[in-house]
Amino acid sequence: MGYTQRVIDDLKERYADQPEFIQAADEVLTSIAPAVDANPAYEQAALLERLVEPERIIMFRVPWIDDAGKVQVNRGYRIEFNSALGPYKGGLRLHPSVNLSILKFLGFEQIFKNSLTTLPIGGGKGGSDFNPKGRSDREVMAFCQSFMTELCRHIGPDTDVPAGDIGTGAREIGYLFGQYKRIRNEFTGVLTGKGLTWGGSLARTEATGFGLVYFVEELLSERGESFEGKRVNISGSGNVAIYAAEKAAALGATVQTMSDSTGWILDPAGIDLAAIHEIKEVRRGRLSEYAETHPSCEYHEGRGVWSVACDIALPCATQNELQIDDARALVAAGCAVVGEGANMPTTREATDYLIDQGVAFCPGKASNAGGVAVSALEMSQNSERLSWTFEEVDAKLKGIMVGIYHAAADAAAEFGHPGNLVVGANIAGFKKVADAMMAQGIV
Ligand code: GLU
Repeated sequence: MGYTQRVIDDLKERYADQPEFIQAADEVLTSIAPAVDANPAYEQAALLERLVEPERIIMFRVPWIDDAGKVQVNRGYRIEFNSALGPYKGGLRLHPSVNLSILKFLGFEQIFKNSLTTLPIGGGKGGSDFNPKGRSDREVMAFCQSFMTELCRHIGPDTDVPAGDIGTGAREIGYLFGQYKRIRNEFTGVLTGKGLTWGGSLARTEATGFGLVYFVEELLSERGESFEGKRVNISGSGNVAIYAAEKAAALGATVQTMSDSTGWILDPAGIDLAAIHEIKEVRRGRLSEYAETHPSCEYHEGRGVWSVACDIALPCATQNELQIDDARALVAAGCAVVGEGANMPTTREATDYLIDQGVAFCPGKASNAGGVAVSALEMSQNSERLSWTFEEVDAKLKGIMVGIYHAAADAAAEFGHPGNLVVGANIAGFKKVADAMMAQGIV
């Protein structure tokens, strides 16, 4: 049995209770096997055994008081996974599903995603099982202050720089930053996704969604195609989905669907994004409200955006939301491209099926790297105490996404899987991290 397979088997046994982490690690390790086998020094240095084990896991209690005066207790986490390329970097997820398995999968993916950006950032992730939905601003503030009271002793602008993710947006980053500054008495770039008047970067809010569309646009242009006239189905309605929809529509596509945790909308005329912005970003409301004011739209409870025929599918909601039946329906209806805006939204079975059927599949760690890339640009701006124009940041973002597409496509071809961007992204992301770890010794 080969080295890579032994590490996978050992991981499956040791962490049998962490299915999402196993899923992410198995996919990466399986596809990098040719690059690992080509370099026996990796095995001598136990490189893979070290790569799959986080450098540090911080777990803590987060007590806070709700509006009824009741004491609530949540679990807080920060996974400092790999610092070979730079300070740990990655978001904080606030969602009731958060547990160690989900954060280890996200932290592991983040290592390779951050490497692909070509910017100097390591991989990390954190969060809590706190659910901000339905909580008042005061309750969210109380939670964030308690969370940061513990987290602040573990992070810093040159150590670990958290950011947003599901459930953590501009409001939460504000409360977290305020508490860090108060305790540490430092105004530094310790978080990204900050407000524009206090160290944030222009284009950070748009970055993941715009970046996803730039990535897919480059793939299409290599085939002599574009977004013009294409039917695009999007899942989710957070900032990744909203700005992917905005950029795809600006490039001439018709965005037909979006979804939230209770249902989904189909508007064949093209979704009115100003209305979505108002409902989701201003009022924190439900997509069902869209249907009330848009007669051309159908609203359905539950899930279903992948049952609608489209040319391009952009899953931008959450992990494992695009499953084998969805993949079959997409292929049967002629979908040619799947671009992941969320982290690991496609199950392994669905991914393999799509690739087998000749669908151009863009894995999230490559195609959604625009968010963290602009976070790294926010860190650069904070270090030089300057802020760049929207056009400057957007142009850098586009250059980075085009570069990631070609790095993944080239690595796929070099290792005998032309067109397979899963293999290409994993190998290209891995090689930089592996070289850095080898150079830095057994640590
Ligand atoms: N949470 C985002 C991601 O999954 C962004 C992380 C960041 O900006 O640090 O990449």
